Amino acid sequence: MPASSLQLLPRFMDALLGASPAVVYATDRDWWLGRMHYLSVNVADLCGLERQALRERPQLWLERLDGDARDTLLARLDEARSNGKRQLSLHYSLAHRDGSVCHLQDDIVLHRDDAGEVTELVGSLIDVTERQALLERFAKLGEQLPGALYQCRLSVDGELSFPFVSTGAQRLFGLPAQAVMSDASAAIGRVHGDDLEGLWHSVHRSARRLSVWRYEFRYRHPDGHPRWVQGRATPERQLDGSVLWHGFCEDVTLRKQAQLALADSERRYRFIVENVSDLILLVDADGLCRFASPSVERILGHTPDTLQLCALLELLPPDDAPHVQRRIAEAIASDHGAQLEMRARHARGHYVWLEVGCSPYVNSLNGQHDWLLAVARDITERKQREVKLHELSTTDSLTGALNRGAFLGCLRGELEGVERRDTRLSLVYFDIDHFKAINDTWGHAAGDLVLASLGEICRSTLRADDLFGRIGGEEFALMLDGQSLVEAAMLAERLRGKFENVRVEFHGHWLNFTVSFGVAERRDDESPDALMHRADMGLYEAKRQGRNRVQQALAERRAAPEPVQSGKDHK
Ligand code: GH3
Ligand code: MG
Ligand code: MG
Repeated sequence: MPASSLQLLPRFMDALLGASPAVVYATDRDWWLGRMHYLSVNVADLCGLERQALRERPQLWLERLDGDARDTLLARLDEARSNGKRQLSLHYSLAHRDGSVCHLQDDIVLHRDDAGEVTELVGSLIDVTERQALLERFAKLGEQLPGALYQCRLSVDGELSFPFVSTGAQRLFGLPAQAVMSDASAAIGRVHGDDLEGLWHSVHRSARRLSVWRYEFRYRHPDGHPRWVQGRATPERQLDGSVLWHGFCEDVTLRKQAQLALADSERRYRFIVENVSDLILLVDADGLCRFASPSVERILGHTPDTLQLCALLELLPPDDAPHVQRRIAEAIASDHGAQLEMRARHARGHYVWLEVGCSPYVNSLNGQHDWLLAVARDITERKQREVKLHELSTTDSLTGALNRGAFLGCLRGELEGVERRDTRLSLVYFDIDHFKAINDTWGHAAGDLVLASLGEICRSTLRADDLFGRIGGEEFALMLDGQSLVEAAMLAERLRGKFENVRVEFHGHWLNFTVSFGVAERRDDESPDALMHRADMGLYEAKRQGRNRVQQALAERRAAPEPVQSGKDHK
């Protein structure tokens, strides 16, 4: 607006501009140095200085600014003047005459002549003290945040800029907020190369769909320590077609490192669990399997999936289940765990022996120690070896009969049982006739063959419940549970017949042998020793009467036993 028109309408201008909250001025140079064409009357409200006083001595204005603000203001005006700018916005604080400080926004239009020389400045001053206070409060609050608040703009031609960045940028990005606002690439250029493409992709997708932007990226912090940054922002389409996000970025390095360490440790443990040859099971409070390691396939023939939520007890033999269940309950209650040997059913139906270490496990759902961690090892082979060793220690290898100790132990145990159960039980004693002569004639090896043949015949003739023992060199005994004297004598007779008729081949010679038997049935209240003695007496009598015969022991000791001739019931 030409200065002349302003000069022509002073009253009108005063009335008009006095009604505005802005203070308007017009001058041919910096208004505090040059000639002031106009200054609206409300300037007194703004700074406490009267219009007239200021018009007479505009320098008063500069005196109200502090030194630094004054230098900046003059420098920016000079710069605008020489750079050909037409507009300039300045912010500065001014000391009010009443002692308070007001923040002003000075928007200046630079009028130029045809040669581009500045001929007039028209400005408007607004008191932005309240807005400034709000901004300062906002900045202070922003400083308390663990990251940076920001606004980000994507222009229609694809350029990214940050119109606002809070002071948190300094800590997060190692760059002053002002640096990021003036040049977006200062921060973007430090995003890790591997994350940059993903970052742009996520920004464009958010802009396209106007969906919330979320992204995690690595940032090359100027202090040399890389950071993980997580950003979140909400986009808004602007009238000019650009997209403006309001968002927040924070440093999540520690959380990310913890996450990565956790994932790494989880991977490590998974690797161990999946490759360990032992079976690892996790069982919940209801006895349901919640996890089985892959080795379950090799040990029990089940896949880890088929065992999921399967009841552990269903894998156990029904007879063992109560005992195992009790031990497991004790292990959980004691908080110490337990070691047990148990059988579990293989998918193909047979049972596998397992050595199991049980430990209480914290149930992640309720924090209680009511789950169980079981580490199981297949010990079937060891168990089979143990059984074999036991058999070897109790069994005579030549005849397959129980050795003397094992037989007498079983006999005593059974006799006590019989006492309780009140059932019949008979004992047979037998001895090879003239065995010494076989040894003497054919040698010890031939005698061994005869012994082996006798053992084979006995084992193929006896029932599973009958007990067969080798009492001495060529002296044997049978314990027949549930058999009467007559039944036992008939069995002895059948065996006698088989022995008499068998021929043992020895280096082209056929050897034969006979056996003498004594039989006794247990009487009420009779001790094991008394019963054995009576059976032995029967044998003695059979020998005495000429051998190769069965002799029943009589009721009274030393009484003459009776011979028996036939048998049934046995093979
Ligand atoms: P009897 O009809 O009175 O029983 O006469 P016998 O010759 O069978 O009885 P005796 O007690 O005189 O001889 C038993 C023999 O059995 C003596 C012993 O060398 C032999 N003998 C004991 N154990 C074994 C063995 O394991 N192998 C062999 N080959 N001979 C054995
Ligand atoms: Mg003999
Ligand atoms: Mg003998």
